[in-house]
Amino acid sequence: MNILTMLWRNLWGGSRTMLFPARPKVSQGYRGLVRFDPELCTGCAICRFRCTARAIEFRAGKGDFVWSYDPGHCTFCGRCVEGCKAHALSQDAECPPIYLNIGDLKNSYTVARKAPAPKPAAPAPPAAASPTTDPAPGGAQ
Ligand code: SF4
Ligand code: SF4
Repeated sequence: MNILTMLWRNLWGGSRTMLFPARPKVSQGYRGLVRFDPELCTGCAICRFRCTARAIEFRAGKGDFVWSYDPGHCTFCGRCVEGCKAHALSQDAECPPIYLNIGDLKNSYTVARKAPAPKPAAPAPPAAASPTTDPAPGGAQ
């Protein structure tokens, strides 16, 4: 594209910005705010270790744990969501809301640790074969 065409488009192509509170449309697969489902979370803390931006905090307690997320630190990379085997994390498919200060959108959950599922009962051993009595040689009558 030559410079004159670019100039023409910039001058007469209309506004490329929008006025607040209008929001731009997002494309498919857009990564927005991280959402947490405490019902599905197992408390493994993998998301905490995968989040190099330190947007996720994890504090283990006695019988529970605290999971926190601060979008003010989040880079929306999606690594926490990808690494959550329990599918407890997801990301919004829309722009995050406007906020003024780091911490304004922070949320924390205190989650009780679930009791481990009972181990399945061991299968019963096969029934012992009943002893067979061989007929006496010669065939007792
Ligand atoms: S959200 Fe997922 S990765 Fe993070 S602690 Fe819970 S189960 Fe583990
Ligand atoms: S999307 Fe990335 S930066 Fe945001 S909480 Fe997850 S791992 Fe951290």
